[in-house]
Amino acid sequence: MNAASDLYDLARGNDPARPYWNPERETMAAEPMAALQLQKLKAQLHYLEQNSVFYQAKFKAAGFVPQDLRTIADLAALPFTTKDELRSSQDAAPPFGLHQAAPMDRIVRTTATSGTSGQPVYQGYSREDVARRSESVCRGFWGYGIRPGDRFVNAFALSMFSAGVPFNVAIEHMGVVSIPAGAERKAEGVLKILRDLRATALVATPSFVAYLAEKAPEVLGIPASELGLRVVCGGGESGFELPAFQREMERLWGTKHVYDWASASDAHPNVFAHCHVRDGKHHLTPDLVLVQLIDPVTGQVKAITEGAEGEYIVTHLDREACPLARYRTGDILRVRTNPCACGRTGFRMDIVGRSDDMLIVRGINVFPTAIVKIVGTFLPQTTGKAQVVLPARGPKVEPPLRVRVECGEGVDPANSRELADAIERRIRADLTVTAQVELVAFGAHERTAAKTRLVVIEPPADGAQGSQGSGR
Ligand SMILES: [Zn+2]
Repeated sequence: MNAASDLYDLARGNDPARPYWNPERETMAAEPMAALQLQKLKAQLHYLEQNSVFYQAKFKAAGFVPQDLRTIADLAALPFTTKDELRSSQDAAPPFGLHQAAPMDRIVRTTATSGTSGQPVYQGYSREDVARRSESVCRGFWGYGIRPGDRFVNAFALSMFSAGVPFNVAIEHMGVVSIPAGAERKAEGVLKILRDLRATALVATPSFVAYLAEKAPEVLGIPASELGLRVVCGGGESGFELPAFQREMERLWGTKHVYDWASASDAHPNVFAHCHVRDGKHHLTPDLVLVQLIDPVTGQVKAITEGAEGEYIVTHLDREACPLARYRTGDILRVRTNPCACGRTGFRMDIVGRSDDMLIVRGINVFPTAIVKIVGTFLPQTTGKAQVVLPARGPKVEPPLRVRVECGEGVDPANSRELADAIERRIRADLTVTAQVELVAFGAHERTAAKTRLVVIEPPADGAQGSQGSGR
């Protein structure tokens, strides 16, 4: 394995003027980066062959010989790894599964996936995995302008979440004041911590960040903008990448520094994060995790070029405890590759949807996140919150697509037919599907620290509506 010592550089925090946490890796040109990736990929595949029972079996079944790999493209001969395989692997050899590649006495940290779509998958980390995770997180937060002296509140869930305790360890590593408030403390508790500790930065899910701003006057007697936060950021669901949501959070929190973050629990230390330009989230860890795009239907690798769309798969280049190769994350990205003014060279992306959330409306692929993005352009008449309501499980859905939209404060759903019509028109224009928008009152949507559900299944009460659709 590659030594993590070159990454674990505490001195980086001593020069707040520098724009990047790791200038060499964040601004590396494409060719040397590809050469570094290939060199690390070869070493990692050799490591898997030596140490991972899961990958030994996978290589053998596919006739894949790591030593034969000459180019990154040769990796396509290896079949994908899926979440279901990780669950079976874990069931067969608890706690971490047959894909565990480091002995237990080298493992020092655990996290888990949320388990919203089944049994959670547990991840182990070696000491070096922890160092690389901290490195990846520091690259993102440094790019947001967070520096030693800042007081940084983490209001993601702390329990087992890969952006929970691991974020706070990374924040300490940056030399920044780490404040592990946690979503478990609820809005009232987090708001008091923001005030009492004179916080300057906050990370949480966008729905929780919005909820905190809404509750601040009631809990603290002052608007959120008077708390003095300089950086407000987060991820885990759609929100911070939307210009309308950004503007609303800028107004509510009184800062221009509102940023988005994306990563997948199984894929750490992979990180995508905004730079100050906010034109998509940069891939910040190409030296640690190889990210490739595939066509979600055919599985063919697609080139990462301006405007390309596809599901992203990850191959760890540097992970010791539970490394994965050609792992399907299920997230569909749209990428940007034209140069960014910030000087970082990693491609930029936004998540378009989940491959397993994709709906097919009369042959047209529609992602619920695309609907939410459209609704987000109707702030403040709406809160930007929306759900797709299906009569039965997708992906095939008969039009019109039912969309439930939460009205903004002071907007009466019963007297806002024009607003509903406007949203329907925009959905038809942008996504070429017919929608039926039903408005609900401000506050009707559940707002919790957890992720907001984008799709709900509500079978029709009288069967009248269900008779139109196949529902399957
Ligand atoms: Zn940039």
